[in-house]
Formats: sequence, C-alpha cells, structure tokens
Amino acid sequence: MNELPRVVRTITALRQFVQASRAEGKTIGLVPTMGALHHGHLSLITEISKHVDLPIVSIFVNPTQFGEGEDFETYPREEQADLEKLAETDTVLVYAPDAREMYPPGDSTTVSVGGITGRLEGTARPGHFDGVATVVSKLLLQCQPDAAIFGEKDYQQLAVIRQFVRDLTVPVDILGGPIIRETDGLAASSRNAYLSEAGRKVAGQLNVILARLVAEVAAGSSVKHAEQTATDTLLAAGFHAVDYVAVVDPATLEPVTVVNRSARVLTVARIEGVRLLDNMAIEVPR
Ligand code: AMP
Repeated sequence: MNELPRVVRTITALRQFVQASRAEGKTIGLVPTMGALHHGHLSLITEISKHVDLPIVSIFVNPTQFGEGEDFETYPREEQADLEKLAETDTVLVYAPDAREMYPPGDSTTVSVGGITGRLEGTARPGHFDGVATVVSKLLLQCQPDAAIFGEKDYQQLAVIRQFVRDLTVPVDILGGPIIRETDGLAASSRNAYLSEAGRKVAGQLNVILARLVAEVAAGSSVKHAEQTATDTLLAAGFHAVDYVAVVDPATLEPVTVVNRSARVLTVARIEGVRLLDNMAIEVPR
C-alpha cells in the first residue's frame, strides 16, 4: 500500500501548503467531498489531475446542508478507510477541518443563491443549497485553488456552484465530472450503503427507467407523458415515492415542454427512506 496522504485540519496549515506549492510554480485543484469515498469521488481526482499539478481533497460533513430529520448524525464517517483509498490516487493533501474551524463561534454569513435554487432539490430540501453555497464558498476562499471539481451526479448543485462563482467572480475554474455508476447502472453514492439487498435491487431500476424516458423524449414523445410514465413505472418497480422526474433546460434548469436540441432529465426517487438522485442528458438527433 502507498503512504497515506498528509492530513491538515486548519485553514492556516492548508494555506501554508498552498502558498509553498505556488512558490514552486505548481497549480492547485480542490475536490470537495463529505467522505465515505467511492469510485465516483475518486474519478473526480483523476479528472482534475488532468488540469492541475496538485489535487487536494477536502473531507467535511457539512452540517448546514442537512435539513431537520435528515441523516447528518448517521452519515458515514470513515476517515481511515478514506485515506487508504486516497493513497492509491494522486491526492497530495487532505483537508479535514472540524465544524469549529469551518463555522467558528459568531459565524453569521450565509451565501444564498437565487433563481436556479427555486425548484427541484431547492424545493424538496429547503435551505440545502444555502448550506452548500456557503461551505463551498468557504472552501474556495480557504484553499484558493486554480480549479475545483464537482460531480454531475448532483447536477443542480453543480449549476448552483457555477452560478455563485460567476456572480461573485470567484477566480477559480469549476469543472464537472461525469456520473460514475455501479455495474447495474445505479449512480455510485455514499448513501447506497443504507439500502437492504432488496432495496438495492429496486434502486438499480432507476437508471433503466430514466434511460427509457431519454429514448422516448429523444424520439419525439411528449415530455409530460414521458415524465408521468417514468413516475408510474418507478412506483410500480417498488420505489416508495418519487419526488420529481423533470425534463429541464441543461443550463437554466427551467422546465421544458418541447425538446428541440438538448435537455436534461433530473429525478429523485425514494426507497427505504433513502433519496436516490440521478440525471441524464437528452440529445435530440437533428
Ligand atoms: P459528496 O461526498 O456526496 O458531497 O460528493 C462529493 C462530490 O462527489 C460531489 O461533487 C458529488 O457530485 C461527487 N459525486 C458523488 N457521487 C458521484 C458519482 N457517482 N459520480 C461522479 N461524481 C460523484
């Protein structure tokens, strides 16, 4: 096994590392995560390594992006296993602050993004994107990387981050990484581990049903009809609830009723109390 990457827990130590690296002419990339790392996270490190010299991974289970009754307390925390996985990657440093470093006593600033947060996950999880935008702003200011990468798995989150980085002219390149899937097509997620064997089997249907919707819409089916069919099929497959199946503009995330060129379908379906997110591109042949 390779040597474990160095871990720093303070902003001061992070900045020292970044400044010393810059003095040597190196570029820095940041991969923000909440830990419980899987091959989806690791793919982001591979991807950002194509763009920067030194990838830094942050691990922080951010309390402000969890709502009441969500899984903040039970969210898997497995730092040692994470470090062992990171040892097999190009990661040069792990930044793992505690909550007091990130939110010291008296902290009272929230970054709140309008527009794009007013639907889908923004409606399903009130306050969630404030928590995400605030913590990602902090991470970007603490590290000051040349580039940061986020997965398309959380497609709306990536759009929200692009929005505030543009609005606040944060000097960083935001990159998106493709969704990494398990062998049955289920998007890799730290929360998949919550599922029973039976639940995990049903979960594998989500991407199949979504791919069917994509094919139908690309072939000219009505968007409304395809969304309803996918919802009904998910419920019939054993999902307990469908928060949304929405065909949207890939940039603005506004609902679209007619797909002329490209669109994106975003969905959240629930099984065994777990919200499973997925999304896919819809390309209409000319
Ligand atoms: P999380 O630890 O869940 O906050 O995720 C950290 C980063 O990894 C986010 O940018 C996610 O979008 C990304 N990510 C999570 N799962 C996947 C996946 N299956 N494929 C690609 N990126 C992912």
